[in-house]
Amino acid sequence: MRIYNTLSRRIEEFEPLEPGHVRMYTCGPTVYDYAHIGNFRSYVWEDLLRRALKLHGYRVTQVMNITDIEDKIINKMAEEGLTLDEATAPFIEAFFEDLDTLRIERAEHYPRATDHLQEMIELIGKLRDRGLTYDSKGSLYFRIAAFEAYGRLSNLENRQILSGVSVDSDEYEKDDARDFALWKGVRPGEPSWPSPFGEGRPGWHLECSAMSLEYLGESFDLHTGGVDNIFPHHENEIAQSEGATGKPFVKYWMHAAHLLVDNEKMSKSKGNFYTLRDLLERGHEPRALRLLLLATHYRSQTNFTFDALAQSTSELQRIDDLTARLERDQTTQAGSNETFDTKVDEEAAEFERSLGDDLNISGALGAVFRLVRDTHVALDKHELPKSSREKLAAAFARMDGVLALFERPEVVLDEEIEALIVRRTEARKSRDFAEADRIRDELESRGILLEDSPDGTIWKRRLG
Ligand code: AMP
Ligand code: ZN
Repeated sequence: MRIYNTLSRRIEEFEPLEPGHVRMYTCGPTVYDYAHIGNFRSYVWEDLLRRALKLHGYRVTQVMNITDIEDKIINKMAEEGLTLDEATAPFIEAFFEDLDTLRIERAEHYPRATDHLQEMIELIGKLRDRGLTYDSKGSLYFRIAAFEAYGRLSNLENRQILSGVSVDSDEYEKDDARDFALWKGVRPGEPSWPSPFGEGRPGWHLECSAMSLEYLGESFDLHTGGVDNIFPHHENEIAQSEGATGKPFVKYWMHAAHLLVDNEKMSKSKGNFYTLRDLLERGHEPRALRLLLLATHYRSQTNFTFDALAQSTSELQRIDDLTARLERDQTTQAGSNETFDTKVDEEAAEFERSLGDDLNISGALGAVFRLVRDTHVALDKHELPKSSREKLAAAFARMDGVLALFERPEVVLDEEIEALIVRRTEARKSRDFAEADRIRDELESRGILLEDSPDGTIWKRRLG
């Protein structure tokens, strides 16, 4: 595979440090609210990456942290009078539900910051021993000036970093604007833990260094996140990890461009802020959102609009229609269709090649949709023998191991709907077409589409 490495700013051949095994760290959610669809743009892309690596034969060990101690969480606790657990537990649960809804494969580890205080404290101890920290009013800071390699990932001149206003939003006193807190001294009413540096809590950047070290070792292959993570978060992770171990931290850094909504940054004040749950409440199909989020190359900005979601929904419908047609149109036809079989092999190879080319998703989806179209054509001509179907099914299954779009959710037809379909069939038999149409309209308003064929009435659930 070839991937773009933010560190070198070029496309590189991907070679994991340990042959055949990819160790990958993904910055996870801060659990004080529901994740928004922008966050899921990053998580869905990271899922694509993980699944594409597996398609290319790698074993993957992925770690995603759960940030359950952080300024925004503390604000929420204070505003709503909640304990740390009360403030975070519902959103941790919601996060995992949302991952399942979007068919995001589970990582191997989801460590929580509050379960790894000891590892974080040990890491700070190493940095302190190496003279990379200083104390100021009960908090401990990382001294950037003592770490020469600072700024390599974000390629920022020191000058630019110094003039940046958003370096760190906390109000603690620092020697240098670039410095960041490793350990924040306790403040009244805030959760805190004992440490050799005094009672306090860890800085946000620290947890990713400590937990990646714990689960993936001193040096590992891949580290991902959205572009906003590059600076200062990932730059600070490098400083902490390499500062403590003296070894190269991460071989390849990959970052996803942001999701915009109606071409603007998402924000609550603009009213263009959506969680996954907002879209589900409006009746949208989660697979359509997954397709929309996947379909733009990860290094290009994606724009979410309801028109684009409708477009993805109809593309998904093309896949579902084919699946339904293949289920309906079972055959025992013998013989072979070599032209079709060759086509299947070519598109399967194109799919895999595209993903290996820095996750070229347009190329991969192009192969899928060409195969969908050609299968319809073959079915129209009754030229799809059993052997070709089996070959096609295997190819689609392999593709869907990456896309996770084909499998339709279990549709439970409630008895009432089934009874309506029977009544409509009877009305048609007795030529009461007005009644038959009324029932069809009623079903349609409930999202059930009917299609009459010589073999009887087929129904399907409308997407979105
Ligand atoms: P946060 O909870 O803010 O730390 O974000 C979790 C993940 O979502 C990080 O990888 C961010 O880079 C990513 N992210 C945040 N906003 C967006 C967005 N609008 N589009 C894509 N990714 C985002
Ligand atoms: Zn992180």
